[in-house]
Amino acid sequence: MLIFVFDHIFDLSTGRGPNPVVRIEAVLGLALNLPYYAFGRTNRWPRAQAYVRMVVDIVMITIGLGSAGGLDAAGFLAVYTIVPLYCGLVFSSSACVVATVLSTGCYIALVSMQHAGWLPRPAVAPTGNAGMAAFNLLIVNVVGVLTAVLSEAYRRSRQRQVTLNRELERANDQAQLLNAEIQRAAQLRVLGEVVAGVTHELANVLTVASGHLGLARKKVESLPDVSRNLDHVEESFDGAMRIIRNTLQTARQPAAGPALVSVPEMARRVVELKAYDFRRDAITVHVDFPGQFPQVRCLPFQLQQVLLNLVTNAQHALREVEPPREIHIVGLVSANNVIVEVSDTGPGIPPQTLPRVFEPFYTTKRNGTGLGLSISAGIIRDLGGEITAENRGGRGASFRIRLPAARAEAPAH
Ligand code: ADP
Repeated sequence: MLIFVFDHIFDLSTGRGPNPVVRIEAVLGLALNLPYYAFGRTNRWPRAQAYVRMVVDIVMITIGLGSAGGLDAAGFLAVYTIVPLYCGLVFSSSACVVATVLSTGCYIALVSMQHAGWLPRPAVAPTGNAGMAAFNLLIVNVVGVLTAVLSEAYRRSRQRQVTLNRELERANDQAQLLNAEIQRAAQLRVLGEVVAGVTHELANVLTVASGHLGLARKKVESLPDVSRNLDHVEESFDGAMRIIRNTLQTARQPAAGPALVSVPEMARRVVELKAYDFRRDAITVHVDFPGQFPQVRCLPFQLQQVLLNLVTNAQHALREVEPPREIHIVGLVSANNVIVEVSDTGPGIPPQTLPRVFEPFYTTKRNGTGLGLSISAGIIRDLGGEITAENRGGRGASFRIRLPAARAEAPAH
């Protein structure tokens, strides 16, 4: 369109008013945006689409140059530079090379065919230095703007990459720490099993030895000295058996049972665990608990699992809306219960979905399992509480957990 206007003002080549071919091409070029847009929205063969646009542009420029005199239009050749430049900008560096080679080939072919008389070569009046200079200045400006856009896009993508790398390194460090802890726990477990096995075998051997000792004692009852010595041996046996029994008891101790858990602390830990995801998705989390919040009695990982499920669902929902994206984890105390509300500013739960969210395998996500909420509901039910879901009047979804507060004097396990 710029060239259209320019040709109109400066009478680029013919000396007889605006070039009709350039005018038709300008209008055609503009109209072509419609099918380009329609195809672009299908997302099919994006590379082929980009190459078609590139070829069409180069062919149109070549036809324009042909109508402006072919070899006599050599002064306008810089117009070709726009195509490789925007190809490099929005497409790829190889497309940029292809566009350059194709432009060169098309122009040489045009001039050769006009020279051989296969194509008409319009007689043009010399444009004059001012017209030529103005045209080339226009191209220099277009190319300058495109280059600026290109370098800005490059700078931004570099910045994004640096930030992402930093996040990745942090995530990697955390993963390594976790991995080390898992390995340590696995080693301890194996060690515990080995100790239990060895101790068990020792106990068997000592039991047999103790039996033989009893028999021997009966036979030497008439020899007081030997009997006294055997008494000492028996005491030592008892000592050894006591040690073995203790070791076995410790090794076979079941995993830690229910404990008094601080809900605010657990909520903050869960937010910490998801910190990377929240930062990446521009989600702000507000954790708000009153100062004296009663503890609850449960296996710590159970509460962690439930809160993790709720905030992860909120995170997924928030991805569907524009920022600001917020999650609120709020604690309330009501009689002998604690209430924890996890709400978000996402799209909310559609009315037909709401009654089904706690059903096992019910999911509306492409890669969802539909198990998060049903497992959470099971855990909360087992702890003597309940979990409910509601919409916050068009301002996102809210999940409410009620759990019995642990009595203050209850001793921790
Ligand atoms: P899934 O693995 O699919 O997330 P869930 O049991 O966690 O399974 O959730 C079941 C469904 O409940 C989800 O697929 C989603 O439709 C809905 N849901 C859960 N949390 C939210 C929320 N915060 N906002 C909107 N919809 C939600």
